[in-house]
Amino acid sequence: MPIQFEDARNRILDAAGTLDPEQAQLLDAVGRVLAEDFHAPWDLPLWDNSAMDGFAVRAADAASGKELEITGYIPAGGAELPPVAPGCAVKIMTGAPIPPGCELVVPVEETEERDGRMRLLKSLRVRDHIRFKGEDIAAGARVLPAGTLLRPPEISLLASFGQSLVQVHRRPRVAILSTGDELVDLGMLPGPGQIINSNIYSLAAAVRDAGGDPQLLGIARDNLKSHRDKLARGLKADVLITSAGVSAGDRDLVRDVLAELGVEQKFWKIAIKPGRPTAFGVKGETLVFSLPGNPVSTMVTFEMFVRPALRKLQGVTPAVRPFAKARLAESIRKRPERVQFLRVQVRLEEGRLIASSSGDQNTGIVRTMIRANGIAVLPAERDRFEAGSEVDVLLLD
Ligand code: AMP
Ligand code: MG
Repeated sequence: MPIQFEDARNRILDAAGTLDPEQAQLLDAVGRVLAEDFHAPWDLPLWDNSAMDGFAVRAADAASGKELEITGYIPAGGAELPPVAPGCAVKIMTGAPIPPGCELVVPVEETEERDGRMRLLKSLRVRDHIRFKGEDIAAGARVLPAGTLLRPPEISLLASFGQSLVQVHRRPRVAILSTGDELVDLGMLPGPGQIINSNIYSLAAAVRDAGGDPQLLGIARDNLKSHRDKLARGLKADVLITSAGVSAGDRDLVRDVLAELGVEQKFWKIAIKPGRPTAFGVKGETLVFSLPGNPVSTMVTFEMFVRPALRKLQGVTPAVRPFAKARLAESIRKRPERVQFLRVQVRLEEGRLIASSSGDQNTGIVRTMIRANGIAVLPAERDRFEAGSEVDVLLLD
């Protein structure tokens, strides 16, 4: 009996832990998850500084129409700070340290400058246009808790504090194996009955996109020896993904050989279309996904089952990306008792997402996968969806 979609995904996520931390170069940490709390080692900003190009003045001199003598200049990076005397102004650039006596900065746009003097065109108040020490982040604050996904803003923050190395969860090493006597490698022309092993590339691309480190194991031929050798190698990785050879054909050897190698099968067959014969098992810490071989089925089952597992291994939460709600542009019929993954084109119309079928939904048709920017998940119970009904869509870009 096939198991239900949600059940399959939950069993996979239950089996996936979070990989150990490792030290990574700052730029190699983008898209990864911080493995320990990060506390600010110092105040940000480190000292009071100007928020504008302008003039440092005293509060008593900051009245509209007042004329002040320009007695100094502080560029960004300037370390010499001429004090601001009464009746005087010091020219100051954005980011430059605030000199003694300065109580506010007058932006250059609000002044007129002539012959070494400046005139204020507007009254300002004490503290205006100054960025104060520690106003962004105070020294010691827990700015990034463990579990934070490192996006460009977090990278910016870590860089501001001089962190060239960070502790993040390790990337999963993902072995990828194709199976089948009909397959030839890239660079060869397919002979009679042969096709090129495209799945290994779509899977490697998807693994890399999901933050994993793909390891291409090539092709296992449809005999026991070849399967044993290649699958045994694959079981050394954190995750092993195979494609094809998992249905009920005479030469579908993947599950039998995995069992022989000590993989505990958690399930085989899910009530979904495409992707029904998908199997999942574990050996020690290694997660083993046996995906079907039709290129569309391989890609769709990767999105639905493997990507969430790779996220969980890397500590990304939520492991399952949120679905968007979209309205169907046309009515759809489907078989009941299984979830259907519909390749769709999603567009925004008057603030609402509208999903329309990207065309022929046959599992043999890759073209409509390419035309799709989403996968609508049509629940098992229903067999008909009227145009305008709301469905969950996994957005692919
Ligand atoms: P199987 O499950 O072995 O019967 O394979 C199902 C279908 O997927 C067949 O049409 C295969 O030719 C195709 N297929 C299997 N492996 C690959 C692959 N690596 N790349 C592209 N198509 C494949
Ligand atoms: Mg096969």
